[in-house]
Amino acid sequence: MSTVTQGGPDLPQERRVVTEIPGPRSRELLARKQAAVPDGIGTTLPVFVTHAGGGVVVDADGNSLIDFGSGIAVTGVGNANPRVAERVRKQVGDFTHTCFMVTPYESYVEVCENLNRLTPGDHEKRTFLVNTGAEAVENAIKVARHATGRQAVVVFDHAYHGRTLLTMTLTAKNLPYKHRFGPFAPEVYRVPLAYPFRWPSGPENCAEEAAAQAIDMINKQIGAENVAALLIEPIAGEGGFIEPAPGFLPRMAEFAKANGIVFIADEVQTGFARTGDLFACEREGVVPDIVTTAKGIAGGLPLAAVTGRAELMDKVHVGGLGGTYGGNPLACEAALAVLESIEQDDLVGRARRIESVMLPRLRAMAEQHPMIGDVRGRGAMIAIELVKPGTKEPDPEATGRVLARCHAEGLLALTAGTYGNVLRFLPPLVIPDELLEEGLNILEKALGED
Ligand SMILES: *Cc1c(COP(=O)(O)O)cnc(C)c1O
Repeated sequence: MSTVTQGGPDLPQERRVVTEIPGPRSRELLARKQAAVPDGIGTTLPVFVTHAGGGVVVDADGNSLIDFGSGIAVTGVGNANPRVAERVRKQVGDFTHTCFMVTPYESYVEVCENLNRLTPGDHEKRTFLVNTGAEAVENAIKVARHATGRQAVVVFDHAYHGRTLLTMTLTAKNLPYKHRFGPFAPEVYRVPLAYPFRWPSGPENCAEEAAAQAIDMINKQIGAENVAALLIEPIAGEGGFIEPAPGFLPRMAEFAKANGIVFIADEVQTGFARTGDLFACEREGVVPDIVTTAKGIAGGLPLAAVTGRAELMDKVHVGGLGGTYGGNPLACEAALAVLESIEQDDLVGRARRIESVMLPRLRAMAEQHPMIGDVRGRGAMIAIELVKPGTKEPDPEATGRVLARCHAEGLLALTAGTYGNVLRFLPPLVIPDELLEEGLNILEKALGED
């Protein structure tokens, strides 16, 4: 049994596998889950967590797993981060909710001021807060439609934007996100993404050709003057950590600008230092009109934000935006602690350090293991795409086998990708280097056994 009493960075930073994974206690809890929770709520690895912090997740059987998931890119600052815990603890004793739209409080405004200052571009901005990434994306579209008086929304192949009616419509992949959940929201159009590894004529021509195709489709099939928003993830997350070929994002942003289209960057997964920049758009100097953020924003508390040009955001009438819980005071305190941690602990530097450890090792593995078709990503958002050796044919079965071996050895990793053949790695930015190396050793062994 676990003897730890508190999570956070003081948890022993070690991998420790003391039972089968999942162990007996987790299996008991899993049976309860199956009886109480619908099957539609899937589980990547059914170990039931009791504590987490730094680079480890500890389960109910006393196993300590290396965390390459961060709760899907959420706990970048580390689980139970002490700054987050302290601020939330104080706030929970002061007041827990008033609804910002009824009686406001300072922390909400402070989070917004910070996002206005930190997101790309030095134009005047406004921010409002909601609860989830999907809600942020929905609201960004509301603002763009309202401000432009147009309706069409353009999204890209391999996109993921959420699970609500509008955002699952914006999402590309049928299973599991859309299957039998239609009819979908109207006025959503999909165009090609510059996916270098799978571009038919090769990565060199990818940015230019994909942009030309996307722009041609918009002009011919929709009419640029009918498009309210062009919505894109600067690195496609669930789609498989696809970095659009360099030049593609700036070209699409330029096209949007020239045609009065609101350019929305969905930084829900890529934001808050994850990619080795505070926001992924910065890498190519792209300045979006609206940025949506969530996941890494508040150390695990539910919070999301829409940050955009003041002249767009201020167009919406009073009461047109909001929600009961948006910018909950506990979540705002957590976000302020996260921003402090990013700065004080140089988490942008940490993300770059993680990249410098992971990419060379994964590239070396790719030399040894022809099943690795592509190694890609930035910062602490890194992936390998698995294929049938000598081809580009996706191999989701091998991906599942490698993942299962990693899990059995105490390395928590995740899959992604339109074809289910991407292993993605999202360690907490505070993970110690030794655990990062140990996790990579486990992966290497798991690849070798296939
Ligand atoms: C996770 C994610 C969302 C949805 O966020 P939720 O908080 O799960 O609603 C939207 N966009 C991107 C890019 C994401 O990664």
